[in-house]
Amino acid sequence: MGIEAVNSRIADIQSRIIALQTQQVAATKAKTAATSATSAPGGSFATVLADAMDTQSSAGTAKSSSLNKSYSLNSKGIPTELVGYGNGKIPANALEKVGTTNHKLWAPAAESLTRMISDAKAQGVTIGITDSYRSYTEQVDVARRKGLYSQGGLAAKPGTSEHGWGMATDLDLNNKAQAWMRANGEKYGFVENTPREPWHWAYKPKSV
Ligand SMILES: [Zn+2]
Repeated sequence: MGIEAVNSRIADIQSRIIALQTQQVAATKAKTAATSATSAPGGSFATVLADAMDTQSSAGTAKSSSLNKSYSLNSKGIPTELVGYGNGKIPANALEKVGTTNHKLWAPAAESLTRMISDAKAQGVTIGITDSYRSYTEQVDVARRKGLYSQGGLAAKPGTSEHGWGMATDLDLNNKAQAWMRANGEKYGFVENTPREPWHWAYKPKSV
């Protein structure tokens, strides 16, 4: 794990702790406000109300900052938030499901693929998913079954696959869908980058 990855991981953890602490403080404040409202009916209602409103706005801030999570790629096109885990070693909860399927990718890739499949469907084009994130163990298995790409097979060297970063998907495409992908895939950040594998689409967005 590189020092940059460690630092970014630490920063991520710290921001989560701060968000949690903010939520806890807000919850305590809300409780206090509720108690004083009932125990002191003659007390300053305005104060209690102001307190409760303040509580709500700080809770709201904590929530929206976690929703507005920022994403970035390193110089090799690997998500900075995932690089520390290692290829094929990413925990399930660090990835996001593609639509209602059980396929998982890096969150922005999952969201873009979901949108792409839905847009294609609206245009009468069916895109299926054969594969997505692939763990290291699964990469070893694929290499054993399909042979290494460098030796004429169809598998990346285990630990180097784009699938191991949740950054590629294998699609089930008929001729119409293949043509649609070649015309539209790039708009969604998906590029056909592996000769002999027209089903393999890597996520290489111009920006995230
Ligand atoms: Zn693939």
